[in-house]
Amino acid sequence: MIVHVREGADSALLAKMIQTFDATDLNINGTRVLVLSGKVKEIDNEFASIVDEQFVMETDLQLASRSYHRETREVALGSVSIGGTTNNTVFISGPCSIESREQIVEVAERLVKLGITIMRAGCFKPRTSPYSFMGLGPKGLDLLVETCQAFGLSVITEVRDSTHVDEVIEKADIIQIGAKAMYDHGILKACGACTKPVLLKRGFGTTLQEFVQAAEFILSGGNPNVMLCERGIRTFETHTRFTLDLCGVAYLKEYTNLPVILDPSHAMGYSYGVPDLTRACTAMGVDGLLIEAHPNPKEAKSDAAQQLTLDELEDLLATLGPVASAVGRTIV
Ligand code: PEP
Ligand code: MN
Repeated sequence: MIVHVREGADSALLAKMIQTFDATDLNINGTRVLVLSGKVKEIDNEFASIVDEQFVMETDLQLASRSYHRETREVALGSVSIGGTTNNTVFISGPCSIESREQIVEVAERLVKLGITIMRAGCFKPRTSPYSFMGLGPKGLDLLVETCQAFGLSVITEVRDSTHVDEVIEKADIIQIGAKAMYDHGILKACGACTKPVLLKRGFGTTLQEFVQAAEFILSGGNPNVMLCERGIRTFETHTRFTLDLCGVAYLKEYTNLPVILDPSHAMGYSYGVPDLTRACTAMGVDGLLIEAHPNPKEAKSDAAQQLTLDELEDLLATLGPVASAVGRTIV
């Protein structure tokens, strides 16, 4: 249950309520908000005088639920807004990893030419093998941020573990929590303690409930700027890297109030399928798309098979407008 506390509430009674329900105590835009632990459906009359509004939740969704906050939350990023009532589908692109200054400058130049305002690139790569490229680390982060600033782009980059989460929070415009890092409480806690936008990716073996509960960790830490990213889950199928769960996307849109971003690149795993899948994602009427592109995918140090060339990216983008407008959206 979520409770909005009445202004001027008796502080002793409020403290008692917080203790009784082991409540998370938040200030959301000037409103004192308590999220009560457990599945509380009723509160004692004793507390009636300090309760302004109460929201009984039928599921484990709390702050992320549309029953609490009907409108999709809006995440503002420079001149672009994601979610809210904007009907924007924000196109985010860039390489899997930043590899060199030349590479990232070439990508940035093309993104600017295409009117794309947010660049993605990983500096701290969570790899399955210890012998794979782990990213350029802090030097890569500085180079990425410097390049994005020079080109007027916003930057999204991922956190691999909590050893560098503070550095990414300080320097990136959007913090990406990757599929493998989704359960890391150190990362979730640090992201909850800041107000920077966070893109939380769904783990590939994660149920929708677990996914949204991870988002609740960030929201209940006090950060309202959370976006959800579906990037494919593992199924019995082996011909594609993962299976993009569009049913899950429909669920997230219906029941949560968080902007939903789709990542067809990681789901498909092969560049040949990415354009069609991106159009399908666009037709879902989502808040954003995350597409990997590289000047020379064959030579990419990570996720080589799935990255589009910059020309392929340009061709794809040119096809999206009509698909987006058919579902009342605009690609920005
Ligand atoms: C990525 O975006 O490059 C990435 C590693 O994604 P995921 O966490 O979804 O595997
Ligand atoms: Mn990648």
